[in-house]
Amino acid sequence: MSESFSQRPTRIVVDLDALSGNLRAIRSHVGVPVMAILKANAYGHGLVPVARHLQAQGAERFGVAFVEEGIALRRAGIHLPILVLGGILGRQAGLLIEHDLELTVSSIDKLRKVEAAAQTLGRKAAIHLKIDTGMERIGVHSETCGPFIEASVASRWCTVEGIYSHLACADDPDDPMTALQLARFHDACGHFTRLGARMPIRHLANSGGILHYPDTWLDMVRPGIALYGVLPDPRSRRTIDVRPALELRSQVVYFKVVHVGRPVSYGATWAPSADTRIVTIPLGYGDGYPRALSNRGQVLIRGRRLPIVGRVCMDQFMVDLGPDGTAYNGDEVVLIGRQNGETIRVEDLAAQADTIGYEILTRLNDRIPREYVGGE
Ligand SMILES: *Cc1c(COP(=O)(O)O)cnc(C)c1O
Repeated sequence: MSESFSQRPTRIVVDLDALSGNLRAIRSHVGVPVMAILKANAYGHGLVPVARHLQAQGAERFGVAFVEEGIALRRAGIHLPILVLGGILGRQAGLLIEHDLELTVSSIDKLRKVEAAAQTLGRKAAIHLKIDTGMERIGVHSETCGPFIEASVASRWCTVEGIYSHLACADDPDDPMTALQLARFHDACGHFTRLGARMPIRHLANSGGILHYPDTWLDMVRPGIALYGVLPDPRSRRTIDVRPALELRSQVVYFKVVHVGRPVSYGATWAPSADTRIVTIPLGYGDGYPRALSNRGQVLIRGRRLPIVGRVCMDQFMVDLGPDGTAYNGDEVVLIGRQNGETIRVEDLAAQADTIGYEILTRLNDRIPREYVGGE
């Protein structure tokens, strides 16, 4: 982060010890290796600092969405295996192999493109086969994947390191879809046995699978949101003791009295019914703080939970202290996290903004400086 941002009163504070504690909690609960998912700037926590810390703390593998994220990790000195989970185009294959990134191969056609790139570079590609068991996103359908697996096993330029699929409904502990997907995945893996080939690493479980469906843990799990201490869905159960690692804090930059009937912010959507005290907080939707929290969200100031009033602007928003409330310029404002025993969780913001915790976290952008604590 450049010097010019260092004075900004708004910041994200990431507790590295919480992250490695969550990694250990998941690891010991499932008893199989963990591929820590670091896509989208490590769910807003900061790609490189999170990766460096987790690598030092014994993470086994990393997963990212895009080749660019994988290259950023290699440039930062990350040496663990990194799987790029997203669909790729043939022209990207060479770049992945050059940077020693593991590729997701999701069709015979893509397998051929990866083989061609590997041959050109004179270097074998490590691949994970993607099977579609019910997500209909990328991957070969389980019921027709026999020839795909056969071609991959026979490949001279690709080493099949893993086989995986993705769960669509595991955030809900009671959805029958997961059992169906697991059965289809086992059918797909059966082709290795049929071919007399070595079984690669079988991995299926995202956070929902890890929290609710032990049968899906198989040879490795792929936690994202749970690693960051946030639950995937309001229906999810906290079966593992993970805790949030990210706090979003700011400071009051303005105080005033707003008179009865004088509307606040764009569109004049809210006005006080009696004279009241209002403070201004210096962040907004331009930082990724949801505009959907206009007239709905809350913040903590001096240990009190206080309402956002009027619309959230690009760079600022207003909070009502009430007629007798006090706050001074420079007072700490907690948007996500704890203050004097009160807590605002990512899950609370998600509910108020009609979205999921994933979106709240990944939208927090680089305009907000990130500060790291713990991790010694
Ligand atoms: C994002 C992602 C994960 C992690 O999902 P969470 O729900 O955050 O645990 C795992 N696997 C794949 C393929 C993903 O795209």
